[in-house]
Amino acid sequence: MGPQEKPRVAFFSFTCCEGCQLMVLSCEKELPDILKHIKIVNFREAMSEKSDDYDIAFVEGSISRRDEIKKLKKVRKQARVVVALGTCSSTGGLNCLKNRYPMEEVKEAVYGKRAALSYKPIDTIPARPIDAVVEVDYYLHGCPISKKEFLSFLTALLMGKKPDTVNHPVCVDCKMAGNICVFEKGGHCLGPVTRGGCDAICVTYGTWCWGCRGPVDNPNIDSHRETLERYGLTAEDVAKKFALYGECGGGRKC
Ligand code: SF4
Ligand code: SF4
Ligand code: SF4
Repeated sequence: MGPQEKPRVAFFSFTCCEGCQLMVLSCEKELPDILKHIKIVNFREAMSEKSDDYDIAFVEGSISRRDEIKKLKKVRKQARVVVALGTCSSTGGLNCLKNRYPMEEVKEAVYGKRAALSYKPIDTIPARPIDAVVEVDYYLHGCPISKKEFLSFLTALLMGKKPDTVNHPVCVDCKMAGNICVFEKGGHCLGPVTRGGCDAICVTYGTWCWGCRGPVDNPNIDSHRETLERYGLTAEDVAKKFALYGECGGGRKC
């Protein structure tokens, strides 16, 4: 990239619902300004042109097929900066629920009896976050990502600053939003151990935190487990609550 050239940005999608890319597209007010500073060269949800020449790659989705491993390694080789876009990509996300079952059972649940009759093997492997396959430079958490966080991340990156990573629990956002604590209303919540930055949106809109952004660094899991148990949950209930978004956790290189 020459000094006068805009950084070339690509978006890639692996196993996911593509909701995080949709959040990027929902920045319709900000996009005209953003496009003055970057050139988007690959974004399947928004354009049909494609280029393999890019500097920054936003990677959405977890890895759940062998061909995705190959494709992701190619992205890593090309991009100067790789950003995990959303929970599927950062921690494996909901896709990792399939890892609880034998793969043959998973195939049959999706494809029925035809799974066994398929003339070529169905390419499915346990789901994993992208950092189980390649090095990742930055993580944007959330299912989906927060639009506000995406914009401030991109601004910092383009200004040559190190983007901030939120490392406070959702409870901090929740207090700032002026919510009444779900525990006080007799419910349960994973906010005390979950990474904030989402403005505690689920609590604000009447539910509780499901832990979609993954744990804060050094979460006090034992203390939170005790709290949940004090509020009437069994050890099994507690494990289930943590498991929805917490099954993969990352780390396995392949
Ligand atoms: S993190 Fe959530 S919203 Fe984003 S792609 Fe995965 S499932 Fe969809
Ligand atoms: S509702 Fe949840 S996120 Fe909000 S303060 Fe209570 S425990 Fe924390
Ligand atoms: S409140 Fe919890 S589940 Fe909801 S967006 Fe924030 S981190 Fe995710």
